[in-house]
Amino acid sequence: MNAEILTVGTELLLGNILNTNAQYIAKRLADMGIGVYYQSVIGDNPERLFKAFELGFKRADIVIATGGLGPTKDDLTKEIAAKVTGKELILDDKALEMIEKHFESLSRIMTENNKKQAYLPKGAKIFYNYKGTAPGCAIETGEKIIILLPGPPREMIDMFERSVIPYLSQFQDGVLSSKILKVCGVGESKVEELLGDLLDSQTNPTIALYAKLGEVSIRITAKAKTEEEANLLIHPIEDKIREILGDNIYGEGNQSLEDVVADLLIKHGKTISVAESCTGGLLAARLINYPGISSVFKEGLVAYSNEAKMKRLKVNELTLNKYGAVSKETAVEMARGIAVTAGTDIGISTTGIAGPGGGSSEKPVGLVYAGLFIEGELYSIKLNFKGDRQEIRERTVMSVLDWFRRYLIKTNS
Ligand code: ATP
Repeated sequence: MNAEILTVGTELLLGNILNTNAQYIAKRLADMGIGVYYQSVIGDNPERLFKAFELGFKRADIVIATGGLGPTKDDLTKEIAAKVTGKELILDDKALEMIEKHFESLSRIMTENNKKQAYLPKGAKIFYNYKGTAPGCAIETGEKIIILLPGPPREMIDMFERSVIPYLSQFQDGVLSSKILKVCGVGESKVEELLGDLLDSQTNPTIALYAKLGEVSIRITAKAKTEEEANLLIHPIEDKIREILGDNIYGEGNQSLEDVVADLLIKHGKTISVAESCTGGLLAARLINYPGISSVFKEGLVAYSNEAKMKRLKVNELTLNKYGAVSKETAVEMARGIAVTAGTDIGISTTGIAGPGGGSSEKPVGLVYAGLFIEGELYSIKLNFKGDRQEIRERTVMSVLDWFRRYLIKTNS
């Protein structure tokens, strides 16, 4: 079984937005063992869209299209797909009800043209939209299938995971089951090197690596007759990977690094505050992503200027003059300062040069120090990053959270 991906939207052709839908769908299809030989991007043009569907049908079993399911006149994907397959569009009551409820929940008035979204090709398998308005669907025409999905990635991904994967599994022998391990502190190429033969020699389960800023996900996917059998295939591989990567694996599934750190803090009943310079609140924001963090997170302060570091955190003027704001000495004084003023067990700080200006040969752009004050002890870490300002700041947050996670594991095991 193979599929072709059509991503619809003039803004994609013009390069105004990045085609993340095609990347995501291609990856997930590969995980399922469904081959993708062609991908096309088509503007909001009925003739070219029609041709693209026709061509897709010639060269693939399934054509998956995203975008163009909206309420406006230039949203044509569904209408064209119905024409290609010779289906009429009929009103789906449940879809209409869900769209009405969606508007109600946002306290917005639904406009008449939104009703257009509830019309779906007769006989299609409908994929309801739990994150937005436009429903998706699968249109079966004997041998071939067209799958239509909304353009907004949040809606598309939810629909793909919730409905499309189970729908497609019926055409496959057996089931596919996946496990994701999340890695921090080692880059993708290092993970690849460490896993070595394991990566190349595996056919069932397969092991795939996905890198994101500051972290790597390892997806282990097994195919078997039942979910239980698939999991039995996954377990020994997971154990081997855990043995090789040890504490570099910080979590699994949907867990984020801040989830893991927050869990550890709550488990050990330790309160925390943060003082940030170059990360400007990103560290606090990441920790606050975790629902329930209020029992341990007390305060976050952005102390950007030297004056603020002295006034708010009691960093010594001599320290700033002698070592500079970006130094180990300043970092630990900031960490202690925030823990003392906030009255917490732990204080964490960041201070660095995010660029693009402000670097020197001695202290280049990307140099960051983090400080940790915990139960009277002071620790620091020196980090060096490459990248633009935003990247350096985000990488700093990942590295500091990971450094702190490792400290908590080591001292509490
Ligand atoms: P809506 O329900 O919002 O009307 P739609 O199915 O009509 O959805 P589009 O109008 O084509 O979708 O796209 C909506 C938005 O989704 C785009 O402005 C863009 O931000 C995003 N989007 C669309 N296609 C893609 C894609 N291939 N990759 C990433 N983002 C996309």
